[in-house]
Amino acid sequence: MTTTTTLQDCRALDAQDPLRPLRELFHIPEGTLYLDGNSLGAMPRSTPARVAQVVTQEWGQDLIQSWNKHGWFSLPGQVGDKIARLIGAPPGTVVATDSTSVNLFKVLSAALSLSAADHPGRKRIVSERSNFPTDLYIAEALCKERGFELVLVEPEDIAAALTPELAVLMLTHVNYRTGAMHDMAAVTAAAHAVGALVVWDLAHSAGAVPVDLGSAGADYAVGCGYKYLNGGPGAPAFVWVHPHHADRFWQPLAGWWGHATPFEFTPDYRPAPGITRYQCGTQPMISLAALECGVDTLLAAEAHGGMAALRRKSLALTDLFICLVQNRCQGHGLGLATPMDHTQRGSQVCLTRDEGAYAIVQALIARGVVGDFRAGDPSTGPGRTGTKDILRFGFTPLYIGFEDVWNAVEHLRQVLESGEWRRPEFNRKHAVT
Ligand SMILES: *Cc1c(COP(=O)(O)O)cnc(C)c1O
Repeated sequence: MTTTTTLQDCRALDAQDPLRPLRELFHIPEGTLYLDGNSLGAMPRSTPARVAQVVTQEWGQDLIQSWNKHGWFSLPGQVGDKIARLIGAPPGTVVATDSTSVNLFKVLSAALSLSAADHPGRKRIVSERSNFPTDLYIAEALCKERGFELVLVEPEDIAAALTPELAVLMLTHVNYRTGAMHDMAAVTAAAHAVGALVVWDLAHSAGAVPVDLGSAGADYAVGCGYKYLNGGPGAPAFVWVHPHHADRFWQPLAGWWGHATPFEFTPDYRPAPGITRYQCGTQPMISLAALECGVDTLLAAEAHGGMAALRRKSLALTDLFICLVQNRCQGHGLGLATPMDHTQRGSQVCLTRDEGAYAIVQALIARGVVGDFRAGDPSTGPGRTGTKDILRFGFTPLYIGFEDVWNAVEHLRQVLESGEWRRPEFNRKHAVT
């Protein structure tokens, strides 16, 4: 990547890209340049037919027999095993179930119980102020219920927050606003050194960056099905618990799908061994089938170099985007919130601007370039990146190419140079940003 990179260079990079054929696995609407796969992944071409089959054949014809005949009952574990391959977890340790928020409630509660047993008296959870709000709300609610305190810090202050008072460190691996990525192994080791447990949220990591929960020695993890896993709107999320911890405590939503023998219908609860106890009630089969199609698109990359190849391409795409923005959009007040250092970058690039970030994103969407906007948080403190409004662009290497990056930056340049973003229709706020 140099300052003289041209459209022709980008086309040449696409022509040499070993992952290029995977784009055909997706339906990308004509005229859309989709840079929001970090918020809602694109639809795999296989999904409509698979969902139709579940509805018309499995439900419509085979009805209740499908629980056995079509393996419905074991689908959360089957999809979980596929997700496990993407996050460095052995088979049988992940289930696809419920939402990220609900799974976080389950694992955080179990982590508090584990900490209370091993280190009674510790009453503190630490997280990042700029963590995704639902994670903080869930932690806040649990703190109220269990008599813990939630302490929020800036990323650079995490190390100092690792003290013998700490029960649980709860972090999102890749920050949703900035795309900054933690060193999972180093942070986990530092937390363990003070006797704390670590809960990782992989919402912006699973299917986006290589994750190795096993070698990082992590304790608990949750993640999202509808972002980089392409599972569709509201897709089931997933949950992983280190096998050493899984059997030590109940999770608080003890439902019959987490029972050791659910079909004995006993009046008392006996938790299933391992991750199965993290299931609660009956799971959405149509949504799980769609999620499986999404996860299969990532497993299809295994024949083309897998997560390592996806990561190489993702970094090349984000490097190119940053370089082109810096060269071709200079003088328009854009800043960069995403780290330049590859070891600290997820699969998205976030630009900042003091004024007009929302309207610029709207003007881009009107041109078919779909990114999104995230408002700044003034409480973060003066001089911090978190105070600024963000233009967020996700790069899903399964279906985004180098020419796409060129075109996206060209649209951004035109929107800024023409001042088109100042038009009133781009300055009206919608309910979902
Ligand atoms: C997207 C995301 C969620 C989503 O939670 P839901 O329960 O699916 O609404 C949670 N946490 C993080 C860090 C996210 O990025």
